[in-house]
Amino acid sequence: MAIFYQKTQEMTTYQNSTNPSIRQCFHCESEHLIEKVANEDIPNGNARRPYLRCEACGNFQCWLDARGCSVPNPLCLCGWPSRRQVAGDGARKPGSLHFVCEHGRCWFYEEVLDQNGKPVVVAQKKFPDCH
Ligand SMILES: [Zn+2]
Ligand SMILES: [Zn+2]
Repeated sequence: MAIFYQKTQEMTTYQNSTNPSIRQCFHCESEHLIEKVANEDIPNGNARRPYLRCEACGNFQCWLDARGCSVPNPLCLCGWPSRRQVAGDGARKPGSLHFVCEHGRCWFYEEVLDQNGKPVVVAQKKFPDCH
């Protein structure tokens, strides 16, 4: 009986930590997350995209749309299909495609490689439609 109880507890914990509907800041664990919409003037076609931000620490959590999300993407450390996105102007390799955690909950990062094993770089403002 005791063992059964323990197992149930574990399963509950696991489900909570991976359920996107239970929102908690990845950085400070605050639950004060607010939905925002990106400004008109941010680059890489991200203007007007809905996203989640932490009120407590001000950190960006994740985008709330499904852009770049598709089932063949590699799994992130949380076990979900990751989100494909393009690196911004301030990044080391602007325009390079990479996979990250869709919900911003883990530090998963993987470059998108072409058939020759070279990182894929797209021209700015030509973000490919992933759907
Ligand atoms: Zn926070
Ligand atoms: Zn993750």
